[in-house]
Amino acid sequence: MKNLQDRTLLNNGVKMPWLGIGVFKVEEGPELVNAIRTAIKHGYRSVDTAAIYGNEEGVGQGIREGLQEAGISREELFVTSKVWNSDLGYESTLAAYETSLQKLGLEYLNLYLIHWPVEGKYKEAWRALETLYKEGRVKAIGVSNFQIHHLEELLKEAEIKPVINQVEYHPRLTQKELQAFSRKHDIQLEAWSPLMQGQLLDHPVLKEIASKYNKSAAQVILRWDLQNGIVTIPKSTKERRIVENASVFDFQLTKEEMFWIDQLNQNHRVGPDPDHIDF
Ligand code: NDP
Repeated sequence: MKNLQDRTLLNNGVKMPWLGIGVFKVEEGPELVNAIRTAIKHGYRSVDTAAIYGNEEGVGQGIREGLQEAGISREELFVTSKVWNSDLGYESTLAAYETSLQKLGLEYLNLYLIHWPVEGKYKEAWRALETLYKEGRVKAIGVSNFQIHHLEELLKEAEIKPVINQVEYHPRLTQKELQAFSRKHDIQLEAWSPLMQGQLLDHPVLKEIASKYNKSAAQVILRWDLQNGIVTIPKSTKERRIVENASVFDFQLTKEEMFWIDQLNQNHRVGPDPDHIDF
């Protein structure tokens, strides 16, 4: 991976940018629209949203304006959304997809994910995603927050393998077993809250490595993602940080530095534990 437009090859042949922008907790309004426009202007080609974020309309507006300003076509952009838990089911997931498209103002998504592995529900929802994929309505389908046992269950019955598993992943939660499982089954791992929602950026180990390269702790973490072969989607609405988070293609961490960052793992989550969700 040499620049922001470089892509990983997913198991169905679709290519996905290694780095994109996330918009969790960004409400509808000019800040959201501007964040998407700014990201596209600075070369981002991947946007991650979800039905539950309640911001698909603004994301769609930001995409339309951003593409026009940058003079690029829809085909150059990779857009992800996710079906929310209350819509998991065959018919309800099909309907949720249409609603997301309508709000985004798009004709197709590049990637549609099951947001959480709600027991007793995610297999039916997966059948719906398979239908959407087979009908050519979506370019790729995947899952989010799936543990190994969820993936094993899904793979038993799935006709189509998920291309992606988007999970919480940062130096405090390195998910080594899930990484190995994903690699073995050719399911691309994608990091949500890669910056641990901003809570890890003062860590002395990260700051020391950062100073060596004249980079920030955030850039070191995102570089660590990429060198681990993990797709990543840091969120920021600030132009300076949107640019900063994408400037991670011009330096390389050593094996030792990768190891030191791995050692920060504490199996610590900032988000919900997928095995104990009550929403
Ligand atoms: P991140 O780890 O990306 O951290 C975002 C926070 O860090 C924001 O407060 C942001 O503030 C700040 N920040 C961003 N860049 C920098 C920087 N360079 N220096 C200092 N602070 C910085 O958290 P998210 O939880 O937003 O995760 C990223 C994306 O992952 C989400 O937006 C969403 O798309 C996805 N996600 C998916 C989930 C799932 O269940 N599938 C769950 C959670 C997230 P500011 O905006 O002010 O710059």
